[in-house]
Amino acid sequence: MNKDLGKLIVVTGAGGFIGGSLVARLREQGHCRIRAVDVKPLNEWHQKLDEVENLVLDLNLKPNCDVAARGASGIYNLAANMGGMGFIENNKALCMLSVLINTHMLQAANEQRVERFFYSSSACVYNGDKQKSFEAPSLKEEDAYPAMAEDGYGWEKLFSERMCRHFREDFGLYTRVARFHNVYGPWGTWDGGREKAPAAICRKVIEAKLSGKHEIEIWGSGEQTRSFMYIDDCLKGIDLIMNSDILEPINLGSSEAVTINQLVDLAEGFAGIKLHRKYNLNAPKGVNGRNSDNALIQKLLHWEPNTPLKVGLERTYRWIHDQYVAREKGASFSSATGS
Ligand code: NAD
Repeated sequence: MNKDLGKLIVVTGAGGFIGGSLVARLREQGHCRIRAVDVKPLNEWHQKLDEVENLVLDLNLKPNCDVAARGASGIYNLAANMGGMGFIENNKALCMLSVLINTHMLQAANEQRVERFFYSSSACVYNGDKQKSFEAPSLKEEDAYPAMAEDGYGWEKLFSERMCRHFREDFGLYTRVARFHNVYGPWGTWDGGREKAPAAICRKVIEAKLSGKHEIEIWGSGEQTRSFMYIDDCLKGIDLIMNSDILEPINLGSSEAVTINQLVDLAEGFAGIKLHRKYNLNAPKGVNGRNSDNALIQKLLHWEPNTPLKVGLERTYRWIHDQYVAREKGASFSSATGS
């Protein structure tokens, strides 16, 4: 057996979308000592895998970070308070408090002399002035400065990126940082207020199809542009970046930009329906345009996220459809039995 497969790997935020998928991927790769950590009760984890040490800990607290990091060889620090635009625009303080998780995890990793530390930053660190056009400006890594990040969530990510850099420079901790651009896929949040645009749109289209009410509310004008990265690409990128010599934060995102209207077109296509679109111009909508400039990742890793949106979104749509139908069945069973 490859000796690295026997080393202890820690994933924080493992009860969430990307963290849960990462634990599953590490298991598939043959890692046999994995510690998965999240603040949520186990029954709320998106995926909970067997033969993994699953710990429920609040990583805002340093002693809990010490427990999480103990004996670890590598740490993937994905825990954060986050969600789609509706969540981050209305919960700025909560988003900024993730600085406690990142500070304490870095301290604990440094004290434990962990070999490798990965931090998941975000495209929300980019300067808002560069994202005013609907033409999907491609954001290069240097466009984070001069800093004018997304208020709350983006500023915290930018600050924590810099902490990773200074722990590396001052204390010699091995840190790697990726700036994720909108990740989507099966096992993602699709309801409840924290879901992001691809999952929200799939759910709304499914709801419209199943209810027969052929109408959809779209946040903003629908002309906002974004790119969306399929989860498999995200996991591959995390692996490549964690094991690379790339010291500075790097984009990890798709460069296939689409408008929100085009995203709705795709979901309607999977459902085989056309909906009347109602635009809510007062809803949270984020910046006008954003895309990932992938010149640096192509140059350094000879790769970029490349799952076509149509392919990844169809898989996601089918998965959300199954979840939706199962939930509705569960609800009608409970009301029929009074349970
Ligand atoms: P997620 O919300 O599904 O997962 C984050 C997990 O962190 C949650 O399960 C949550 O319970 C956990 N958490 C929050 N506070 C905690 C605490 N105090 N202690 C322990 N666990 C705590 O989000 P995700 O989409 O899986 O995102 C993972 C990481 O990637 C986050 O850092 C996020 O900011 C970053 N990111 C995600 C996207 C995206 O599109 N999903 C984009 C950019 C960056």
